[in-house]
Amino acid sequence: MGSLTGKTAVVTGSTSGIGLAIARAFAGAGANVVINGFGVPADIEHERSGIETDFKVRAVYSPADMSKPAEIAEMIALGDKTFGGVDILVNNAGIQFVSPIEDFPIEKWDAIIAINLSSAFHAIRAAVPLMKKRGWGRIINTASAHSKVASPFKSAYVSAKHGIDGLTKTVALELATFKITCNCISPGYVWTPLVEKQIPDTMKARNMTKEQVINDVLLTAQPTKEFVTVEQVAALALFLCGNDAAQITGANLSIDGGWTAA
Ligand code: NAD
Repeated sequence: MGSLTGKTAVVTGSTSGIGLAIARAFAGAGANVVINGFGVPADIEHERSGIETDFKVRAVYSPADMSKPAEIAEMIALGDKTFGGVDILVNNAGIQFVSPIEDFPIEKWDAIIAINLSSAFHAIRAAVPLMKKRGWGRIINTASAHSKVASPFKSAYVSAKHGIDGLTKTVALELATFKITCNCISPGYVWTPLVEKQIPDTMKARNMTKEQVINDVLLTAQPTKEFVTVEQVAALALFLCGNDAAQITGANLSIDGGWTAA
């Protein structure tokens, strides 16, 4: 029996990167999981069935678009219908766009606020009644070092992540007496497709080569000079689900190689 046997976890944005590592860590601890995110259908099915065969749990896929409140409610309902409840919610889906503010496309601002911030509100709103019914719950929001400090050219992302910090604290206080915790994890740079994809735009915005962006923009912020791994973030998320973390709520936990200490 794993520490999460009998629990159901919904992990948004889990077809890739950090979310996929979290979903696999939770499944490894015995949870049934609802995975979510975009991608090639065959690849998603490969990930879904891989979780089932590797960890002997059940995994279902929700295609919900995190910019659409009704689809987010359907994702939570899918977990409830399939597994009889939702015990753990990880709001992890996120996108990035890098541009000077005067050129920042309005539709990119709207999409980042919707996917990186409002989706967490909609998912928490739908999941909390299910957690209250079971008298237990864990809500984990993937924030970022950018929930604590800013970087130029990331106005929407930094605003959304600072918003996640405020949402986390508010929800933690509201649920403090219900055995439901709400925390956010704030990684520094983790090597995932999200980071890889922003390199060309940063090269353009700062007139730099790829190597300069990696060493002088990304890892320059990180005193350890190493990327965080998705497995390290997943291990922290798993810890937050355990009984040892029952008194950790409303926290914004950095896993950033010392970035926000500087
Ligand atoms: P990723 O690009 O590998 O994964 C993002 C996931 O979100 C994918 O599964 C994608 O399909 C999904 N997604 C995107 N738009 C969606 C939508 N509209 N609806 C549903 N799913 C959607 O990126 P990642 O690096 O794993 O990022 C995951 C989270 O971690 C994000 O919130 C990101 O801001 C945060 N984060 C990442 C880093 C980093 O360095 N990689 C650092 C700090 C925080």
